[in-house]
Amino acid sequence: MRVPLMAGNWKMYKTVDQAVEFVRGLKAALAGAGGAEVAVCPPFTALAAVARELAGSQIALGAQNMYWAEEGAFTGEISPLMLKEIGCRYIILGHSERRQYFGETDQTVNKKVKAALKHGLTPIVCVGEQLAEREAGRTEAVIKTQIDGSLAGLTADELAGLVVAYEPVWAIGTGRTASTRDAQQVNGYIRALLAGLAGHGAAGRVRIQYGGSVKPDNAAGLMAEPDIDGALVGGASLQVDSFAAIVRAA
Ligand code: PGA
Repeated sequence: MRVPLMAGNWKMYKTVDQAVEFVRGLKAALAGAGGAEVAVCPPFTALAAVARELAGSQIALGAQNMYWAEEGAFTGEISPLMLKEIGCRYIILGHSERRQYFGETDQTVNKKVKAALKHGLTPIVCVGEQLAEREAGRTEAVIKTQIDGSLAGLTADELAGLVVAYEPVWAIGTGRTASTRDAQQVNGYIRALLAGLAGHGAAGRVRIQYGGSVKPDNAAGLMAEPDIDGALVGGASLQVDSFAAIVRAA
C-alpha cells in the first residue's frame, strides 16, 4: 500500500514569522487527521525555524532545490548535508519553474537526485509537459525523456524510494487542472516507465503525485485515481484552511 504524500510547495512565499505561524495553524488544523503523510517545503530562509516548530509532529519538512556537491566554492547554493542537518526529509527536484527560469535540465536533476539519495533525502522529482507539447500529442514522449534522464543510473531500490510528481506545466498556477482522467493516464504511464526501468515491484512502491492547481474541491477526485498517490500543492498550500482541506481529501 502506498501512503499518499500531500506536500505544500510554498515557492518564494512567506517570511520566517509567517511560516512559523502557518505551521502552528496547520498542526492544529490537522490534529486527528490520519491516512496521508504531510510535508511542507518552505523557502530556505524559513527551513530552520519551521523545523523547530514541527519537532515532534507528524508533518515532514522539505526544501525546494539544492546543489549536488557536499560543500565547496558554489556561491549561492545549498548542499544536501545542510538540508539534512536542519531536519529536511524531502527535496523537490526539477520543478518546472527551475527548469524554465534557472536552467535546470534532466542531467542536473539526475546529479541532484543521486546526491539526495546518497545523503538520505527523499527526492520529489517533477516532470510535466508544456501546453504546446500536449497539443502536439507529445506528452508521453516528453515525460519519457524527463524520466529516463532524471532517473538514469539508479538501482531498483533507490527508485522504489522516490516520489515523482506529475505536474503539467499548463496547469501550474493557472487554475486549469488536468482532468482526473488525464492525470491518471499520465501517472499510470509514469508507473509503466518506472516498471521498465526497475521492474513492477519497485514501480509499485513509488509514490506518484499530481500537481497543478490542486484545490480543496478537486483533490478528492484526483486522489481517488489508482496511480495518484498524493499531491504537490502550490498556491492552495499557502493558507492553512485550504491545505488542510486538501490533506483531508487524500
Ligand atoms: P499550483 O502549483 O498548485 O499553484 O498550481 C503547483 C506546483 O507548482 O507545485
